[in-house]
This record gives sequence, structure tokens and C-alpha cells, in this order.
Amino acid sequence: MRSLRMKLILIMVLLILALMTVVGTFLINGVGNFYIHEFYVQMENTFTQDFILQLQATASQGEDGPERLRELLMSQSNLGIDITNRNVYVLDQEANVLDSSNQKDTVGITSNLLSAMNGVVGQDSSINAAYMDLAIPISSEKGNYIVYILDNKYTVNALIANVLSIIFRSLALGLAICVVLSILLAQILITPIRALTAGTRQVAAGDFSQKLEVTSRDEIGTLTRNFNNMAQVLQNTLSQVENERNKLSTLFLHMTDGVVAFGVTGFVIHYNPAATRMLSRALDPTMHFSEIFGQEGNFEELLAMDRSQYVEARKTASGCQLDLFMAPFSSEHTYGGVLVVMHDVTEQEKNEQTRREFVANVSHELRTPLTNIKSYAETIASSGEELPPQLRANFMEVIINETDRMTRIVQDLLTLSKFDSGKLEMNLTRFPFATAVEHVYAAVSLDAQNHGHHLTRQLPPSLPEIEADRERIEQVIMNIVSNAIKYTPDGGEISITAGTGKGTVWLQVADNGIGIPEKDLPRLFERFYRVDKARSRESGGTGLGLSIAKEILNQHGGDIVITSQYKEGTTVTITLPAAL
Ligand code: ADP
Repeated sequence: MRSLRMKLILIMVLLILALMTVVGTFLINGVGNFYIHEFYVQMENTFTQDFILQLQATASQGEDGPERLRELLMSQSNLGIDITNRNVYVLDQEANVLDSSNQKDTVGITSNLLSAMNGVVGQDSSINAAYMDLAIPISSEKGNYIVYILDNKYTVNALIANVLSIIFRSLALGLAICVVLSILLAQILITPIRALTAGTRQVAAGDFSQKLEVTSRDEIGTLTRNFNNMAQVLQNTLSQVENERNKLSTLFLHMTDGVVAFGVTGFVIHYNPAATRMLSRALDPTMHFSEIFGQEGNFEELLAMDRSQYVEARKTASGCQLDLFMAPFSSEHTYGGVLVVMHDVTEQEKNEQTRREFVANVSHELRTPLTNIKSYAETIASSGEELPPQLRANFMEVIINETDRMTRIVQDLLTLSKFDSGKLEMNLTRFPFATAVEHVYAAVSLDAQNHGHHLTRQLPPSLPEIEADRERIEQVIMNIVSNAIKYTPDGGEISITAGTGKGTVWLQVADNGIGIPEKDLPRLFERFYRVDKARSRESGGTGLGLSIAKEILNQHGGDIVITSQYKEGTTVTITLPAAL
């Protein structure tokens, strides 16, 4: 039974049928019993003691006793003899018909008749029997007779048939009314239920926009109201969940750490762009844990771990150092999986390495002059007056030179540390770039001359002004020109040229000196990096000049570029923004 309407119709029909059956049964039984009862009351009223005596007297009057008896009985109007339905018989002791109202000469032996044959009045009839009867024994001088009244219940049956027909007709009408009522009732019930069904379907499809109209105050009305409330709560919860999900996915998308999630089967289910970048490979759901992190962890072991635990590992992927944190993300094995978070520590490692190298370099750079100073000072101290004055003077000079070198190193380091901590103050002034170059040129000319270098300068008259810390810019230029003098064998060619670019001014120092091997070029700006350590030290270099120059230029928004051909020469170019 699919629809509510059909169910309702069936219930109503069954209800009516049950009601009519009960009513009908009671009615038919009532009618039957009433008639039987009425029959015997009638008989009792007729067959009084007096009437029985009268019957006995009539029977004794002559030979035609049976006929007289019949006539007497038929004359009793309240016996209701009507030949077709109710008859009277006069029988002898053996129930042979002696006379009858309907001329029949036999009767069936009934229990009442048997009673009368035994001399007792028979007056008992069941509702189920097809007849009602009464048998009264009459004794007379002429013989013993039985007066037998037999009713074929035609009147009762006709009445019952009539009642039945009424019942059936009212049943048919009742059924028709009930079907119509059921349809109407079903309509009343079904309409809001249909609306509810449509509503639930919409909610199931994720559309929460429509609110159902509450049309009644009954249970369906309450259900509709509750449904609306439920949909509202659901919508709120869903939007909260959605919000959280968006937050998480944005976080996931933009976080710098790489994240890869593996499902319970060990295959990739989620990953973020950082993960792809760090692993330098495209990830997809067909990849298994063992394929990506097989060397760093065991998937089954990770999955079996407690949620609060995690495993740390280190992975190297195409030059990147990755710290891995691997943990199961649910203790429910069926829905769980493993989450791997990757932290790129390449830069950190590099910084750590640089720091270690730097400390080692500083110690080394300071130890060399200190060792020299100590040994010379000890020699002077131990030899006392024996040391020739000239040698003592030489030793003292070495000590002074080494001390100066240490002072230079410490000063350079201080400058760099100020750059690092951002504490270096710039004394910005506006001055013509050419004057700074001229100033350096004048300062180094003698040194260049002493080395037999041919130092030239070519500065266009239109060189603009710059806004910078003049002392530091001159320090940079001085460092570059000094390097050219230092790293060019005596009698070399050194040229200083300058010019203007797009809002910039540039200076180029070119020499035909020892040059720099190509492999060393990218490392020149590292602190303490020197191509030829001995030569640098000999000429008083600290290995910090170019690093400081780069820092100063960057601080001014400028840059420095070095190109070189090993054993042929070097060209250093600096650019600075021109003052507006
Ligand atoms: P240093 O104090 O040793 O000169 P710098 O930082 O100024 O330190 O230079 C770093 C290194 O670069 C030098 O040790 C040298 O090997 C190389 N270098 C710099 N300028 C030149 C140049 N003009 N020709 C050849 N090598 C150079």
C-alpha cells in the first residue's frame, strides 16, 4: 500500500464493515428473538387454563372432535392462523394428522411434538430453527389429541431480509461517503505532508532558502515548525562548518610549511602547494606514502601510533633540507590516516653553516696577527739588550703593523655588525658624485704610481649629484680602486670611468690584473672570502672590503657587479640612484 490516501480509505472501509457487521448481527438476532418471544407470549395468552378446558370439552362432544377442535382454534383471532404462514394441526397421540388448517396430512416430528406425545406441553424454539411451534396435549373422553401450532417464520424471515437489505444499502451508502471522506481527509493530511516532503528534498539537496508555511496548529503544524527550525539550525551549523573549512583550506593553501595527508590505505588524499614545491614533484592520489616518504617512515607503524605521538625525520629533496613531522590524524583506523608536515630548514641550515664559518674565520683572522705579535714580543723580551737596535725596530714595526691589521679587522667587523643589526646611521648629504670620485683618485694616485700603474679617470662633466653618506661612498670607491691596485701586477692599466643611466649614476673600475677564476665570482661578497689569501694578507686586506661595499651600496639603493677574466683583468661596476 504505497499512498496514505489508500491506507486511509482502507481503514475507513474496514471500520464501516466492522460496524455494520456488529450492528447487523445484533439487529437480526434481536428481531428473531423478539418474534419468537412474541409468538410464545401470544400462545400463552390464548391457551389459558379455561381455553384448554374448553378444548377438552369440545373434543369430548362427538366423533368429529378433531374437526371441531380445528374450527375452534381457527376462530381464535389472536392465534393468528393465516394458512400460508401459521397453521394449526390436530394430531392423535402418534402425531398422525387428524385435521389441519392447510389440509396437509403430515407434519414433521419436532422436539415440542415429542414432548406433547409424552403428555407435556412443548413450547421451546431456537432462533436457528426454520420454524416456531407449540404442541399441547388435549385429553378427552373420546380420545387423546395433540393441538399443534406450526409457524414457518415467513414473517420473521421477511422482516430480517428487509432489515438486511436496509443494512446493505446503508453499508453501500456509508462506504461511498467514507471513501469520499477519506479522500478529503487524506487531502487535508497529505497537502502539508507533501509540502514537508518537498522541503526535506530541498534541504537534502543543500537548499535551505525556502521556509515552509505553517498552515495548522495540529501535529503536522508542529512538525512543519520543527522542520523549519531544524533546517535553520542545520544551515547555521553547515555555514559554521563551511567557514571553518574555508579558514582551514586558506591556511592550508598559504601556509609556508608543506602538508601531505594520506588516507587509511596510504594513498595521498590532500596536499598543499608548499608540499609540491618542497618535494619538487607533482603529487596525486595514486601516490603511496612509501613512494614519497618510504625512507623516512613506515606507514603502518605511523597509523598504529597514538594520536598524541609523532615521529620526526629529516629528508633531503632536490637540495632542500626538510624537517618532517609525521603523525596519525585519527585513532579510528577506518577513517584515519597519516599527516606529514614538512618544514624547510635549508635556509636555516645555510645560515647556521655561515655563522659557524664566520666564527671560525674571525678566530683564524685574529689568531694569525696575535701569534705574530706574541712571538715578536717574546723574542724582544727574552733577548733583552742583546737584540741589535735595528732588528728590535723591525720587530716593533711588525708588532705595530699586526696591531693595525687587527684593529682594521675589528673595525670592519663592527661596521658589518652594525649593518646586520640595522644600527648603522647614515649621514646623508647631497653632493656631486664626480667630487667623491676625484677625492679618491687624488688619494690613491701616489700608491698607484708607486706600483707603476697607469691610472686614468674619465668622468663626463654632466655627472649628476647623489644623496648619500659621502664618507661611506668614498670608502666603497677607495676599496674598489685599492683592490685594482693590489691585484694588478706592477705596471698595470687601471681606468676609472663613470656615466649616467636611467635615474642612476655608475662608476666602473677596470684593471688588467690577475683576474678572478669564474668559480670564485659568486662568493666574492661573502665575509672573509678571498681568492688568494696570501696575496690579500700581504697587502693588508681583511677579506671584508667587498662585503662592506655591497652592504653600503644596498643601503643606498645601489648595487655592485664584478666581471672578470682570470689572468686578464677585472671590472667592478657600481650604480647608485641619482639625486632628483
Ligand atoms: P681583501 O681585503 O682581501 O681585498 P675584498 O673583500 O676587498 O677583500 O676582496 C675580496 C677578494 O676578491 C680579494 O681577496 C681578491 O681575491 C678578490 N678581488 C677583489 N678585487 C679584485 C681585483 N680587482 N682583481 C682580482 N681580484 C680581486
